[in-house]
Amino acid sequence: MAREPAEPNAADVTPDLALELAQALVDEQFFLVYQPTIDLQTNAFAGVEALIRWRHPRHGVLSPDRFIEELEASGQIGPVGRWALSTACAQGAAWHDRGYRFNVSVNVSPRQFETPDFFRDVADALSTSRFDPSLLVLEFAQATLLGDRAQSTQRLEHLKTLGVRVAVDDFEPGTSALDELEELPIDIVKLDREFIAGLSTSSEATSLVHSLVKRSETRHLQVIASGIEDSEQRAQLKNEKVHVGQGYLFSKPHEAEEIDRFLEDFAIFSGKPL
Ligand code: C2E
Ligand code: CA
Repeated sequence: MAREPAEPNAADVTPDLALELAQALVDEQFFLVYQPTIDLQTNAFAGVEALIRWRHPRHGVLSPDRFIEELEASGQIGPVGRWALSTACAQGAAWHDRGYRFNVSVNVSPRQFETPDFFRDVADALSTSRFDPSLLVLEFAQATLLGDRAQSTQRLEHLKTLGVRVAVDDFEPGTSALDELEELPIDIVKLDREFIAGLSTSSEATSLVHSLVKRSETRHLQVIASGIEDSEQRAQLKNEKVHVGQGYLFSKPHEAEEIDRFLEDFAIFSGKPL
């Protein structure tokens, strides 16, 4: 049975911020930036992750760490998440129409996932944009999916009837981590940024990556490493056969027009059509 979304914790909501956020959507102050992901084995462009930004009238551009919690607490994550999904799908379809075929990932917060409307939001974003569902990846934090595994499984299976793929974000590959995700219908695991940061100094972390990649083969999972900042990490992850990488080493997140230039440069650099 569907559980009611958690009530917002009133103490967490600053009235001004909640009001400003409501106005921000009306005034079109939100925008998306896109961070490329790169196939570590072939160097091909693999896709982008859509990340929200708020162009605040007084404080300038704000990153989501400054307002996602408030969006969640005030319940405004519903309409803002809907906007992010439809904007990312429209952009993905525009790239696709120009001959580029790559994944577009969109982050889904816990409260969005719990909302009964979420399935319809995804379906609407896909049908309005005509974006190929198999190129849309929905990213859920590990903690979001592990709360109530039976319910998560049911919801993910329902979402997957649309043809989309599911990624587990902020994945920390402790010994039991993949077991805990065993029954969930997931397609991609994204290694946590902090975990990648500690990779070069920890042989234990390296062996965890090694066994994760091995297990991912039998489960047909794709492994993505986030937060790659230097070429040593890239070489190490490539050596461990991690499939895809993301991080400042390749590119910071950029607005769509800049990604267009990145794609053009990338096609020239790699010497082959994408
Ligand atoms: P995330 O899903 O873990 O997204 C990756 C974050 O890591 C992004 O921060 C990105 O800019 C940053 N990053 C990427 N590569 C590197 C790197 O090499 N080094 C470092 N230090 N950082 C890197 P951002 O854009 O500030 O997003 C923060 C979080 O906000 C995201 O974490 C995601 O959980 C959430 N978020 C972003 N956009 C949305 C959205 O549209 N909807 C929802 N629900 N959440 C979102
Ligand atoms: Ca993410």
